[in-house]
Amino acid sequence: MNKLFKFLNIFSREEKSRSWTLNYNWFKPSQEGLREALCTLGNGYMGVRGAISESKASRVNYPGTYLAGLYNKIGTPIAEKIIYNEAFVNCPNWLLLFFNTGSEWLNPQSKKLLYYDQTLDMRKGILIRKMRIRENNGKITFVEKHRIVSMANPHICAIKYSITPENYEGRVYIKSMLDASLQNWGVTRYRKLNSKHLKALNASIEGKNIMYICAKTTQSNITLCEAARTKVFCNSKMIKTQTPNITTDKKVISQDFSIDVKKKKKYDIEKIVSIYKSNDPGIKDPASKALTEIKKQGDFSELFDEHKKVWENIWKKFYFSIEGDDFSKQALRLHAFHLLQTASLHNQNIDAGIPARGLHGEAYRGHIFWDEMFILHFYDLHEPIISKALLMYRYNRLAAARNYAKDNNYKGAMFPWQSASTGCEETQVLHLNPLSGRWNPDHSCIQRHVSFAIAYNVWKYWERSGDMHFMTKYGLEIILSIAQFGASLCKYSKNDKRYHTEGLMGPDEFHEKLPRAGSPGLRDNSYTNLMIVWTLMHAKKALDMVTKEIASSLIRKLNISKHEISLWDDIAKKINIVINKDGIISQFDGYFKLKELDWDFYRSKYGNIRRMDRILRAEGKSPDEYKVSKQADALMIFYILSLSEVKTIFNQLGYAFDKNILKRNYDYYVERTSHGSTLSKVVHCYIAHVLGRTKEAWTWFEDVLRSDIHDTQGGTTLEGIHAGVMGGSINILFSAFAGIKVLEHKIKIDPALPKKWNSLRTRFLYRGTWISLFIMKDELSLRLRSTKRKKVSIPIEVRGKLYYFVSGKTHKIKLSKDTAMV
Ligand code: BGC
Repeated sequence: MNKLFKFLNIFSREEKSRSWTLNYNWFKPSQEGLREALCTLGNGYMGVRGAISESKASRVNYPGTYLAGLYNKIGTPIAEKIIYNEAFVNCPNWLLLFFNTGSEWLNPQSKKLLYYDQTLDMRKGILIRKMRIRENNGKITFVEKHRIVSMANPHICAIKYSITPENYEGRVYIKSMLDASLQNWGVTRYRKLNSKHLKALNASIEGKNIMYICAKTTQSNITLCEAARTKVFCNSKMIKTQTPNITTDKKVISQDFSIDVKKKKKYDIEKIVSIYKSNDPGIKDPASKALTEIKKQGDFSELFDEHKKVWENIWKKFYFSIEGDDFSKQALRLHAFHLLQTASLHNQNIDAGIPARGLHGEAYRGHIFWDEMFILHFYDLHEPIISKALLMYRYNRLAAARNYAKDNNYKGAMFPWQSASTGCEETQVLHLNPLSGRWNPDHSCIQRHVSFAIAYNVWKYWERSGDMHFMTKYGLEIILSIAQFGASLCKYSKNDKRYHTEGLMGPDEFHEKLPRAGSPGLRDNSYTNLMIVWTLMHAKKALDMVTKEIASSLIRKLNISKHEISLWDDIAKKINIVINKDGIISQFDGYFKLKELDWDFYRSKYGNIRRMDRILRAEGKSPDEYKVSKQADALMIFYILSLSEVKTIFNQLGYAFDKNILKRNYDYYVERTSHGSTLSKVVHCYIAHVLGRTKEAWTWFEDVLRSDIHDTQGGTTLEGIHAGVMGGSINILFSAFAGIKVLEHKIKIDPALPKKWNSLRTRFLYRGTWISLFIMKDELSLRLRSTKRKKVSIPIEVRGKLYYFVSGKTHKIKLSKDTAMV
């Protein structure tokens, strides 16, 4: 590994760089929710919010531990109906650890805080808090807390809580707890829904230092168990504590210790926790497994050493560095860090997709949307095994997707807009408008484009990794099943001799139907129709890639007739796209007849008009009536396909495609989009870059980077990070600024660094070969190294010129200055 990355190994130089950390130097109650989300630690199996260990859920803090794939579905009576929602379960709170010097339990809020510092170290995956507290009686304590969620062992997490009495000695009391009495409480607008997902089963002690608690989800019947071992050390030696007093009411268990402390000596309280659930592979009894494992664990420093090593190797693969712009470097690292915690190599043994809001909070109930399309490139190009695991989550739900299609009178596989445990549709049917306090119907589940995003992700995974085994065994079946579905969505009209789609929505969630239409759904959403064509074309390509035997056995299995395949060809030539005389692609049929919104009026009245849908509804109007989009919809196709790919599709459909089409459509829609989704700015940034509007692209990019770190939506990040925008920002770095495009038969590199960036170093994995890049304004330096330890030569086009670069050598190419800059 070390040899492999020697070329660009500049870790040591960056050791002290602030871009690896996120730091807050004062305790600010109003910021706690946001910091908890941004300081979440995770390893793919679990995500633990960065809440302080001295607080249960309160107005200020919201501790949360989420296990990938752990959901529970319960009902709530609303408007004389029972509404069911499948939620991401907040597991028993293992963080709780308190101390007291004889008066009351101390936390950053309760006493006079003399010093506070909170640092997330992304390189090492550790959260560190330091505080100095003075009590009314004059006692001053220095507290240092270290927390990890082990990347080495996905079931282990740990806290080292160190106290140093600065000016006193005597008895100190410590309380370590496991609390299963909690409920999902993380998202204010869901609080009217039943949120009690856990039933505590039992809690007990084992020996002197270990306690455990077990709980079961009320509907999905998954038992989970947490075992905690709490010990106290001084100078690395375990010290004898007073016999712990164990209190338990089944829902909460706590161990109370007392120790006699000396002035200026440091005491380390180590709480090591193991978590297992009954549907983990090979686990029959999570309680006994959690107990056996906790007994085997070393102390905090051993666990941290193992954990740190794994992170070091992860960062070698996912390495990038920017010279000249510390904010971009820090924000992009934060994005990479959270994606790496949301899905990791451990996902090979986890049956879960990537939740839109990470393992970081309860927004969207931990559901999985189409956001993977903005994210998977990150894993494809660095650790494709992770992408494969995430795509297997979809493959394992093909049967549910087939049933969903059948129930809606379609063929093939229709994946749900929101997916959770079973692969059935989990989109809520009612949602609360916080502005009006009213429950409105939610029709967003008719966003059928999610299935085509899955087909696209499978294809891209194959293109980047070259994993033919996956394509043959799983990927092809996914793509073909989605192609069947896509074709069955299309209806031929003899009038215009075109195929049409109806009853669906595009990515813009503000438009559910035409004004005054009875039922939800739109006709000919252009993005969906273009994606159908893309899927049908690639289904045929994929069929041609495999052996005749494999192709015919799948065709038999999926019952695809010859007629169906020729129908695919026909649809790919005749689907309808509404385009006006100025070359503007209509988001859907009827869009041009909608009213224009008075943007200036709404901006001056409300300031923040991102959620124009809520504003209009609260005013008794409907966004359906206006040309107002939540996010890029008609423009979306230009984000995921190159101009030449879109051109091929347009030409094949018999539509004109001139070089100004992108410019015209961008200018038209950017005026009519409120960016109610963080994904929107990613798309606009990329397109502005393609158009060569460098200043505009940079402004979008800065907005994208700020989305979570500065919570620009004003209160959404604390409910969970936006994994899509995080993946999207890294995609901009790769495909726009580094200009890397991995195509079927070659790689294209066409760098255009932002003005502020002096250089960019990065690397990516292409079909088993690491390609390391050092991009300067006027030169590109590139080196290939095969993981198979053999000589390779890869066709790489740099600025339009094709080279066959061989491994083992550093290649330098001059970049002309005028085209290098943006
Ligand atoms: C966006 C969707 C996205 C979802 C989850 C919504 O606000 O409109 O496109 O999939 O958030 O991130």
